[in-house]
Amino acid sequence: MSFPTRTNAIDFNSARLQRFGFSPAQFLAQPLLDYDQLQRRLGLQLQTSLEADKVLAMFFQSVQQLIPLGALIYRHEGTDLRLELGARARHDASYCITYEGEQMGQLTFQRDQAFGEDELAQLESLLSNLIYPLRNALLYRHASLSALRDPLTGAGNRIAMEQSLSREAEIARRHQQPLSALMLDIDHFKGINDTHGHVTGDEVLKAVADMIKDRLRNIDQVFRFGGEEFLIVLTNTPRESAALVGERLRQAILQLKCPANHSAAQLTISLGCATLLPGESPDSLVRRADSALYAAKRQGRNRLEMAG
Ligand code: GH3
Ligand code: MG
Ligand code: MG
Repeated sequence: MSFPTRTNAIDFNSARLQRFGFSPAQFLAQPLLDYDQLQRRLGLQLQTSLEADKVLAMFFQSVQQLIPLGALIYRHEGTDLRLELGARARHDASYCITYEGEQMGQLTFQRDQAFGEDELAQLESLLSNLIYPLRNALLYRHASLSALRDPLTGAGNRIAMEQSLSREAEIARRHQQPLSALMLDIDHFKGINDTHGHVTGDEVLKAVADMIKDRLRNIDQVFRFGGEEFLIVLTNTPRESAALVGERLRQAILQLKCPANHSAAQLTISLGCATLLPGESPDSLVRRADSALYAAKRQGRNRLEMAG
């Protein structure tokens, strides 16, 4: 079984675990707590955070006081959470957690020594302490994500866009990395609505957003800027590479299979590309990408233009 991981989650947690003086490779000869002590500790400790990664890190760290573990690997599709703590090892114990029919993710423990029956029974029993704190943390995560997401397309909304742009501009400035943005607009989208209806229009919007997300790197981000306009933020990407990404998206749209493509009209997009200038504000970057988009529209659509 393979679990894709996000390095930022791993970095954060290994840093945190190191701060607690925990070494993942270290096997404890003697338990530091007995089972009852650990139960009580987990009962109190796991309520102290609403962040799923912190709750899982606390569980992982505390359970080590009784049962040696090498790694904890967790993923939850519903909130797109992937987490890996410690160092992967040969033997694993894997649990698909559900509560009242609700999927609460896949949790795997790994270590170099095989797990004994007694240890597994204890581990499973300790897991019951995790259920409510994890469920609350997942609900919180879901609510936080919803507040930043456009419900139709799943792309980030304007609030998320503004937060991301100021964060990325700051990183770009601090590390002297290039930051680029693509403003993308579906051509003659009003015609799709008029010909096929708004429900089909919505499906096209969703298909375009999915296609964009599929083709970007994990670190790139896509936001719904307006009706049928998306802004793509390309981290650590210079002008020429951003143009290449935009050009690939333009070509990919031509292949998109969606309901409106049954008509004679081909679905196309126009794009404007801009790269952050020294000392430039995120707003100005977006404005320049938008002006370049309008230049692409004026010059006939289905094309990409670079900001001056
Ligand atoms: P252009 O090539 O110049 O961009 O032409 P256009 O028709 O795409 O642009 P225009 O701005 O005239 O129309 C945009 C349309 O997008 C009008 C609006 O009804 C539609 N639209 C905006 N948001 C949504 C949505 O959430 N769902 C659907 N189905 N349509 C939407
Ligand atoms: Mg349009
Ligand atoms: Mg538009």
